[in-house]
Amino acid sequence: MAYEGRVGSKMGGGGMASHSATNQDRRERLRKLALETIDLEKDPYFFRNHVGSFECRLCLTVHQNDGSYLAHTQGRKHQTNLARRAAREAKEGKGLDPITGLPAGMIGQQIVQPRKNLIKIGRPGYKITKIRDPVTRQTGLLFQLQYPEIGTEIKPRYRFMSAFEQRVEQPPDKNFQYLLIAAEPYETVAFKLQAREVDRSGDRFWTWFDKDQKEFWLQMFFKTEREERYAGVPGLARR
Ligand SMILES: [Zn+2]
Repeated sequence: MAYEGRVGSKMGGGGMASHSATNQDRRERLRKLALETIDLEKDPYFFRNHVGSFECRLCLTVHQNDGSYLAHTQGRKHQTNLARRAAREAKEGKGLDPITGLPAGMIGQQIVQPRKNLIKIGRPGYKITKIRDPVTRQTGLLFQLQYPEIGTEIKPRYRFMSAFEQRVEQPPDKNFQYLLIAAEPYETVAFKLQAREVDRSGDRFWTWFDKDQKEFWLQMFFKTEREERYAGVPGLARR
């Protein structure tokens, strides 16, 4: 089956969903994502001038589009100016935001998340084994991810995501779903799987984090085609 070849291939891309994206795609995605989550109109320094370009009223810079303005607000110059202004206003004792208690000048920093995970150290090593239950004939996958530098208090987390939830691959393909595994300070990785129902019954699905080996295990089986076909039909779905 095509999806198995995909998920199992370590080299040459396709195994991880993000391999296929160029840097430019990635930047464009980040820009879109940022624009979806940030309301530029609430940024006190954002200004659309009469020729349709954008200005930063803090740094007095001009930008050709909103994405470029956005990139600017994340840059060192803008951040430094924000911090300077905030410090100055705090010193002058004016403009404390009544809700946050922060200097009003900080408000332009709303889009900067707390930076505790700023430094990502790359992707974990991983191994995927195709498995098959000899009794039920169910096919499945065993994931083993290596996190040698994982934080001491961190336990890897996983989540299944539908094609429509994710934003990396556009347009979404309903034939696939994604398994995401996250563990700081590593990058979150996504594995592209066939969009079949995962069997959650009994001991079919389990995860385990080996704290000594710093290895995360996840085993999953897909429901059999028969089970999927008869799901919802009373008396037929369960073994
Ligand atoms: Zn600026």
